[in-house]
Amino acid sequence: MRRTKVSDIIKSEEIGKEFLVKGWVRTRRGNKNVSFIALNDGSTIHNLQIVADVEKFDEELLRRVTTGASIAVTGTLNPSQGSGQQVEILAQALDVIGDCDVNVYPLQPKKHSLEFLREIAHLRFRTNTFSAVARVRHAMIFAVHSFFSSKGFVNIHTPIITASDAEGAGEMFQVTTLDLNNLPKTDDGKVNYANDFFGKSTNLTVSGQLEGELAAMGLGEIYTFGPTFRAENSNTTRHLAEFWMIEPEMAFYELEDNMDLAEEFLKYLIKYALDNCMDDLKFLSARLQEEEKNKKAEDRSMELIEKMQFVLANDFCRLTYSEAIEILKNSKPNKKGQFKYPVEGYGVDLQSEHERYLVEKHFKKPVILTNYPKEIKAFYMKMNQDEKTVRAMDVLFPQIGEIIGGSQREENYDKLVKRMNEMNVPAEQMSWYLDTRRFGTVPHSGFGLGFERLMLFVTGMGNIRDVIPFPRTPNNAEF
Ligand code: ATP
Ligand code: MN
Repeated sequence: MRRTKVSDIIKSEEIGKEFLVKGWVRTRRGNKNVSFIALNDGSTIHNLQIVADVEKFDEELLRRVTTGASIAVTGTLNPSQGSGQQVEILAQALDVIGDCDVNVYPLQPKKHSLEFLREIAHLRFRTNTFSAVARVRHAMIFAVHSFFSSKGFVNIHTPIITASDAEGAGEMFQVTTLDLNNLPKTDDGKVNYANDFFGKSTNLTVSGQLEGELAAMGLGEIYTFGPTFRAENSNTTRHLAEFWMIEPEMAFYELEDNMDLAEEFLKYLIKYALDNCMDDLKFLSARLQEEEKNKKAEDRSMELIEKMQFVLANDFCRLTYSEAIEILKNSKPNKKGQFKYPVEGYGVDLQSEHERYLVEKHFKKPVILTNYPKEIKAFYMKMNQDEKTVRAMDVLFPQIGEIIGGSQREENYDKLVKRMNEMNVPAEQMSWYLDTRRFGTVPHSGFGLGFERLMLFVTGMGNIRDVIPFPRTPNNAEF
């Protein structure tokens, strides 16, 4: 008989039909007459209840049906008497596929802390929380491709190993095959990268944008979706050393078009989750509310599903960096000295606490900030007429702060080279990038969405380490 997944069985209306189901035992309880086994196979947040008549089965066999064991059950579908499920399987045959010694199995049928589960990330897929997160993550990956594909964007794989360090000065992971204990040196005592694998110094990429721009300058509209690496030593709940980023890049788009696309994209993803992941979202919402029970009412976040619907129903608020600075400067927490980084005035880089104040307290909806001072943004952003600000746009979300960073790109060759020189970006090594401005240049724009930041938003999880299967952070590369 073919195996049927739990997700299909619990929806089935074929009472009396025989099914074969396989999975892992979450719990077994019961009495001397009957055993109730909660079985999960990862296809859904819901467990399937297996009812086993104790008389029918060998005592030793039933004893091996412990939490964590994998089993196969053949049985008939019955309406369930118990609360919590519509149907159950009345077991006719039962096999233990893999035993599990509960005395040493780390996952007990009780609530474990997220910190503890991070230490056993190899097993946490078997918990409700992480299986829900993993399924939502899959749905979001699928939705990213479906959104861009439906708009005719071409997916581009940009390189993971790069020789350009224009963007990531200081926070890149070096890639080398040189023997670190015996480095070849040049005459002036520096490492001789001519002997390295690529004949030059290389790093892991911090962004696929520059290559994405090249592709957009022929294909029109492209997007990348790949891993990016940052050796920034920021031990926050929003930073990973290895994370996934989606970077669309569009020819003929100006800043307004870029903002429109970013807003439409985020709303599409959120709606997709609401339309396709409701079971998991309900579970995650309840988890979040349980977690926040002890917080003061004003510190609690909005209920997860309500929060997602709220974002869908409202236009994002668009304003300039200068306007935001005025609001922040005059804000209560700034005047009362409650910000860790006080906002003194124009020119400061916004911290997450400022971004969240604007979104959560002031506007009470997502915000897109534009026209940042050129000093705090990258060299490739298009200069405004004022020669002071650039056409940047950051999308700020509740609970997260910056979820998207983007801009209209400088398409003018001379202005771009001037900016590169001012910012010590080695223009001579980037002729390939500058060529797009020499040959048929066009206005263009793009942005980067940190995939795990999106995941934080749609799952309500509080720590970015819990929305990627195997997090990479300073001092942590386990598994
Ligand atoms: P932040 O100021 O929050 O560190 P950033 O300005 O360095 O972000 P960008 O370089 O603009 O971010 O990257 C684009 C997007 O990638 C960000 O909006 C964010 O969603 C995500 N992102 C950036 N750094 C990280 C990181 N270390 N871990 C996870 N996501 C990140
Ligand atoms: Mn950063």
